[in-house]
Amino acid sequence: MHGRVLIVEPVDSKLDEILARHGIRAERRIGLTRAELLSSVSEYDAIVVRSHTLVDAALLEAGARGRLKVVARAGTGIDNIDVEAAARLGIRIVNVPGASTQSVAELTIALMIMAARRALEANLRLRRGEWYRPLGVELHGKRLLIVGFGRIGRRVAEIARAIGMRVSAYDIADVREEAAARGVDLVESIEAGLREADVVSLHVPLTPQTYHMINRTTLQKFKRGSILVNTARGKVMDTNAVLEALDNGILSAVAIDVHENEPPTERELRLIRHPRVVATPHIGASTLEAQRRIAELVAAGIIRALDTMRG
Ligand code: NAD
Repeated sequence: MHGRVLIVEPVDSKLDEILARHGIRAERRIGLTRAELLSSVSEYDAIVVRSHTLVDAALLEAGARGRLKVVARAGTGIDNIDVEAAARLGIRIVNVPGASTQSVAELTIALMIMAARRALEANLRLRRGEWYRPLGVELHGKRLLIVGFGRIGRRVAEIARAIGMRVSAYDIADVREEAAARGVDLVESIEAGLREADVVSLHVPLTPQTYHMINRTTLQKFKRGSILVNTARGKVMDTNAVLEALDNGILSAVAIDVHENEPPTERELRLIRHPRVVATPHIGASTLEAQRRIAELVAAGIIRALDTMRG
């Protein structure tokens, strides 16, 4: 087998290694400008992106004018890829759902506990030499609503149950069996779930239906003083509405790994800098284990796709 693969965002070096063993040459050109990407994409059989690179119709068309056959997303969400344009142009999309489930679930729980214990605020003040011990709350016995009961949502539910949380879930798919197996109560609508929840954790993909799912109207349905956690996608929540809800007491704390704009603009930074917000820069899948798994699965996916497309 032969071929050329362009890697434009950081991926574990295992990817290049496995591709090389199959006679495929990987070229790392991290930080290419959009213009450079548009002018060179047609020279490659596949490109590998993470969540930062916009793979829109223009980029796919530029690739299809040459040899581009595969777009590989080294991760789960494919909301940065124009799936319809790819299908129209006969370009395959490879992604690796599941490879980062455990890592994202662990970060979700970590952020949830940090928010409940006001640990970030305490840490920042301790660094200034202040001996200030904020009063937090336990998660045990609290009601968690999981919005989107897929791979990550289910893993978060399992860990939350072990902590002693009561867990509800809302999903548009039929997840009755998965919920029953984990002792999770299903709710009919997001509003019904929000009324009861002390903590709300988002695990839906970004779609036209989930864009700004958490907005001024839905925030009115939250229990006063609840905690919002978002490790799904920044655009699932309206940043300005979440900031208002923190200021008017609807939300007591917010924990976020994802932001409407990444890197954040001044709008997102206003939320990130709020004293009751704990925020990380989209590190959900940034673990040794997840990145290794992602690289291996992306390599296998590219090899399989190029193989079948040639055959
Ligand atoms: P998944 O596809 O297994 O689960 C998503 C669930 O959401 C599905 O059960 C689906 O039916 C449900 N859903 C879709 N639209 C819905 C709606 N409108 N209302 C209610 N439920 C809806 O995906 P996953 O592997 O669990 O990942 C979830 C999301 O987490 C990803 O799409 C991605 O955006 C995000 N993610 C973030 C990171 C990170 O680094 N923070 C890493 C991986 C994934």
